[in-house]
Amino acid sequence: MRRLRVPFAIALVAVIVVGVIYWLRTRQREVPTPFVTQGRLQIYALDVGQGDSELIISPDGKSVLIDAGLPQAGDEVVAALRKRNIKSLDLVVATHPHSDHIGGMRQVIENFEVKNFLDSGQTYASNEYERMLRAIKEKRIKFIEAKKGMTFDLGSGVKLETLNPQGGGEWITKVRPGGSVENANSVVMRLSYGNFSMLFTGDAETETEQIMMNEGEPLRAQVLKVGHHGSRYATSSKFLEAVAPEVAIISVGAGNRYGHPAEQTLDRLQKVGVKIYRTDLNGEIAIVTDGNKFEIHAAKQPIQVARWPGSATRLACLLSAVVLSSMVGRRDGRRSKGQRL
Ligand SMILES: [Zn+2]
Repeated sequence: MRRLRVPFAIALVAVIVVGVIYWLRTRQREVPTPFVTQGRLQIYALDVGQGDSELIISPDGKSVLIDAGLPQAGDEVVAALRKRNIKSLDLVVATHPHSDHIGGMRQVIENFEVKNFLDSGQTYASNEYERMLRAIKEKRIKFIEAKKGMTFDLGSGVKLETLNPQGGGEWITKVRPGGSVENANSVVMRLSYGNFSMLFTGDAETETEQIMMNEGEPLRAQVLKVGHHGSRYATSSKFLEAVAPEVAIISVGAGNRYGHPAEQTLDRLQKVGVKIYRTDLNGEIAIVTDGNKFEIHAAKQPIQVARWPGSATRLACLLSAVVLSSMVGRRDGRRSKGQRL
């Protein structure tokens, strides 16, 4: 019997560890409390895996979609728009022609009436990009090439302003080795409503951030959609100083092969006290504002089970230690009793 006690203790500890981790994982899937959207500006960072897609709905009911994720995310984007009863989109923005931003565009164009399409205007040879441009032509959608200074009025004082590209054929042509000019020439937009503002940076690189700072663009924003899925080559400390955000949203797929978001970027954000939300951990993230205060509602709570030494792992270890020590203690107690006899 005594010989069986150690395996029994190990089995018990294993059951407790698995139980605690399972409990925390199911807690992570908690359904969020509903929130008031009527008469407010709503922004949704859609959960599209590795890629980018953000939906804006103004208090007047005007809607804007910035990017549409990878082709396989098209269904999710369409479903997210239908969920909000969207029949037509006043503006669709393709920040740059990469697949993880324009992949789902064809499905969006096929399923909704798109009134205006804003593109970075870069030439790019890919089947997806060409198919997207063809679909825009076929549907006779108004095609606009982005240029800094362009402003879109979403009613009730909600404005969407273009901060990049510079326009007039002024492209960023030099980027760090391994960088991407398509990313660097991303459409960057600033949404403002009363005292609230949010910056959408696409996959902008440090070079883009530097140009916008040199040009004295209005960069200050409470919420920052972090550039390039949290890559270490974006979101420089100087840029963070200029934006001074309270909240950062990172649109990123779990376990992506690029290693996004980079530890360095997360460190830079944490250092300046920015609250971070990530679509891989939080699922869809909603930002709701009346133009004064803003609220963030995440579909999942940010309990980081997978991170070592995460809180869940630490709790599991602590519980295991308590159970093991109590079992060993009981065994020792019995033996000493026996010796005394
Ligand atoms: Zn991207």
